[in-house]
Amino acid sequence: MTGPPRAGEFETIARCFTPLAEGEPGALSLTDDAAVLETMKNHRLVVTVDTLIRGIHFPQDTPAENIAVRLLAVNLSYLAAMGARPAHYTLSLALPEDVDDIWLDRFAAALGVEQQTYGITLVGGDTVATPGPVCLTLTAFGWVAEGKALLRSGARSGDTIYVSGTIGDGALGLLALQGKLPGLDSPHAEYLVQRFSRPRPRVELGQALVGIAHGCIDISDGLAADLGHIATASGVEAVLEWERIPLSPAARVAVEGTPPLRESVLGGGDDYELLFAAPETAAGDLALISDRLGLPLTAVGRIAKPDKEKMGRKPGVRIVDGTGAEIPLPSSGYRHF
Ligand code: ADP
Ligand code: MG
Repeated sequence: MTGPPRAGEFETIARCFTPLAEGEPGALSLTDDAAVLETMKNHRLVVTVDTLIRGIHFPQDTPAENIAVRLLAVNLSYLAAMGARPAHYTLSLALPEDVDDIWLDRFAAALGVEQQTYGITLVGGDTVATPGPVCLTLTAFGWVAEGKALLRSGARSGDTIYVSGTIGDGALGLLALQGKLPGLDSPHAEYLVQRFSRPRPRVELGQALVGIAHGCIDISDGLAADLGHIATASGVEAVLEWERIPLSPAARVAVEGTPPLRESVLGGGDDYELLFAAPETAAGDLALISDRLGLPLTAVGRIAKPDKEKMGRKPGVRIVDGTGAEIPLPSSGYRHF
């Protein structure tokens, strides 16, 4: 990341970021003190923010493009989990001296590609110098029809628990990137690394689930921990069946070769898939959505029906194997403090 000194703050904004505000008049070409945005009738504004710090959330040598993809993905994944349609974002950059113009150009170009995919625009931000590591904060804004947001608290007993895509690729991809899966052949390792490095938030799925799913969350802390959040918020018990959890061919090879990696599948984060509860009657609609999006939606468990003997059982998650025997919960999702 070392190079010639970079351009001044305002030149950087004009060169890198103003192009990303095109098409949204309320962004005022990033030349005023703040953006002035239209609101949307009968909708609620959904707002989320996430910060990535070099050395904590991504390895030191991560390419600028992959950082841009991840920064947008982590935030859009939260909007997806609420059923919101993404609209805008703001960006705060704290940059040490060793970040040069080339890095900034690559970062901004990658953001430009991503934002086109999702139909969103940059509407403002802040750019500051820091003596610390690169620190990037993105705030994303989206819309959801009034009363329709997908909450964690909506799961009901008798619901089926679904996940999108495949689970565990993110956590296994990080291990592969760190050289901790030496036994895995390189095509499979590369697949997992790419899944970790370039997450695809399930933005269309989230919107499609509005009116269908009862409770929804994105899988960023790990499958067991995130299902735990739904169970706690909904006051229910969730039963997850290990053998139904969809694994990519690469993850399957990794776990079959090294069974303790099951813990990474259940406990690792960074998948950015959606986990949701839906009633049995939704199965037909979900099959149509899955076909339309070309995205597998897999039933992985259920929200337990109230049972006299088990009444009073605490909300939480149980994981069972093919024989019905209980699998210990993985050590809980990543916590900063
Ligand atoms: P200063 O902090 O020096 O007063 P501002 O923070 O007001 O400068 O930035 C000027 C304009 O540029 C504002 O419209 C602001 O939203 C925008 N801006 C600054 N940094 C970014 C960034 N990283 N991404 C997007 N817009 C930015
Ligand atoms: Mg500023």
